[in-house]
Amino acid sequence: MREHGCPEEDLFSFLSSKRREDLGYHKILSSMCTPPHPIAARAHALFLETNLGDPGLFPGTVALEELLVERLGTLMHHPEAGGYATSGGTESNIQALRIAKKLKPVSSPNIVVPASGHFSFQKACDILGLEMRVAPLDANFRVDAEAAGDLVDKNTVALVGIVGTTEYGMIDPIAALSDIALDRDVFLHIDAAFGGLVVPFLDHPVPFDFELPGVASISVDPHKMGMGTIPAGCLLVRDPSCFASLNVETPYLTVKRECTLTGTRPGASVAAAVAVLEYLGMDGMRAVVAGCMENTRRLIEGMETIGCQRAVSPDVNVATFSCDRAPPGWRVSRTRAGHMRIVCMPHVTRDVIEAFLKEMGEIYA
Ligand SMILES: *Cc1c(COP(=O)(O)O)cnc(C)c1O
Repeated sequence: MREHGCPEEDLFSFLSSKRREDLGYHKILSSMCTPPHPIAARAHALFLETNLGDPGLFPGTVALEELLVERLGTLMHHPEAGGYATSGGTESNIQALRIAKKLKPVSSPNIVVPASGHFSFQKACDILGLEMRVAPLDANFRVDAEAAGDLVDKNTVALVGIVGTTEYGMIDPIAALSDIALDRDVFLHIDAAFGGLVVPFLDHPVPFDFELPGVASISVDPHKMGMGTIPAGCLLVRDPSCFASLNVETPYLTVKRECTLTGTRPGASVAAAVAVLEYLGMDGMRAVVAGCMENTRRLIEGMETIGCQRAVSPDVNVATFSCDRAPPGWRVSRTRAGHMRIVCMPHVTRDVIEAFLKEMGEIYA
């Protein structure tokens, strides 16, 4: 620490200089985050000091968290779903597996996760002492449901399906996984951190949520396609009572017990998440998603004209290509298998895509 504090103006010129070192979103094609919707930013500012970790002090903010769970539960065809606002997909996945493990006490528990699983499952398995069994993918990067079923045994506490895979934007065959889950009596967790706020707004959504009877829990992230502020995730469960298995006693708070993973929790990003959903409504979200999907199609068509073939036709707004070079200044990412990966988030507008394609055309000419 400094012995004497720094004058405000000097401090903010220092902070601004650091902020200028950050990249602007206009050339970021690699992120599943996007600048918050202006409505989210305004709501966030209003709730800056709220702490959902001590809910008795902030009943209004708690009501907004309940509204978020109700809205997302209803979107996932289960208005009675239980849930709470997490810090994102990682925490939601950890907590879902924690519940699954508590519900089935076995001596050497394992989970079955698609090979396309997000790296948060590795963290979860490490923390929870779970063996991670990796199920292979088919030629379209979706999990092979039958092979996943073959990995399930009496020590399997959870089976995972992914809706909007991080790398290729695919939707696993959730209906088939749901059948396996019912048949083998195993907890099915759906990681819809990305796709949960895309698929319900597509023209022809495939069933992936509580509509399928085997689905026990779902992760969905407002800080991705929900255009909220960071951090905002949500864990939803079919049976609200299963959170009881996670409860610990909290002697000095306004509530007597709680089941979340973190302690102090922001209310601001929860208010922001709800605000965007309320402001846009179903038709507003459909318009955002339709635009992102249209841009994804245009990007794929433009890239193939240049000679960069798609790795797969994606189910959501993530496009991947066999292509080794990108124009300078643009941020694209690479999948584990080496494909170029571009996420067509709301900030990746048609103009951005055309500018990128023009520069791609120049370096491939
Ligand atoms: C982004 C993502 C996660 C991790 O979410 P965080 O918010 O970064 O913790 C998990 N699963 C999937 C499918 C994701 O796309």
